[in-house]
Amino acid sequence: MARTADFTPLAALLLATVVSACLGPATSPPEPTASASPGPTVDPVERRFTSRRLAMVTRSIDEAGVHDPATLAAMRAVPRHLFVPTSLLDQAYENHPLPIGYGQTISQPYIVGLMTAELELEPDDRVLEIGTGSGYQAAVLAHIVREVFTIEIIAPLEEEAAARLASLGYNNIRVRVDDGYYGWPEAAPFDAILVTAAPDHVPQPLLGQLAIGGVMLIPVGPVGLYQELWKIRRVSTEQFDSVSLGGVAFVPLTRNAP
Ligand code: SAH
Repeated sequence: MARTADFTPLAALLLATVVSACLGPATSPPEPTASASPGPTVDPVERRFTSRRLAMVTRSIDEAGVHDPATLAAMRAVPRHLFVPTSLLDQAYENHPLPIGYGQTISQPYIVGLMTAELELEPDDRVLEIGTGSGYQAAVLAHIVREVFTIEIIAPLEEEAAARLASLGYNNIRVRVDDGYYGWPEAAPFDAILVTAAPDHVPQPLLGQLAIGGVMLIPVGPVGLYQELWKIRRVSTEQFDSVSLGGVAFVPLTRNAP
């Protein structure tokens, strides 16, 4: 079963208030009067985002073939609109990737759902993600597992994601700026590894940091073209089984200059 990570609803509400301030009241539909709905007042804009999020998860994840309950619950919980640029808020719950600056993107929700489910996570797992980006995928993982380690190569993106995740109360995610090709050796082995940028080969250091029995998901292929999404299971110290989950399109895994 999914375990909910420590999450501060107050922090989310505060951030949501800032977001709703950016959106302005003109975009809000008419709301029922307070007397018609007793109980605590929920920001109307936030309520609209929540209903769009629930609809997106049903239509673009569950009905699209990803039925893992922990993945669905996590994606229903994580406010994706707080991980996209404010200029793109209206598209936060559409099923496509969005630019997040520096030539990078937040992944398409369906791909996040597929990869999360295929990792076969357990509540006690420790997971490594390569390619923090906005921090959205890390947040989804953090609702399901004990601890998430995530590495981003672009320093300003790493800083933004770390601040965003902290302000939302995710205290089981560790973020670092580095070249993720080498993984996070001090924290290895990992029960699962998720690579969200595409190299042209599987990095040997990441294979070495996968626990026996663990699963790695990684898109592999030439830069700028479609890649193949591989699911690699470490069967023993020396043996890895891999299966292709089909074609995907990720930004390239870049490397620090030597
Ligand atoms: N998982 C992210 C989206 C990933 S986009 C999210 O949920 O928003 C891919 C990210 O991988 C980009 O931010 C890119 O800068 C980063 N990246 C590319 N090469 C990398 C490397 N060698 N090490 C770590 N991060 C890398």
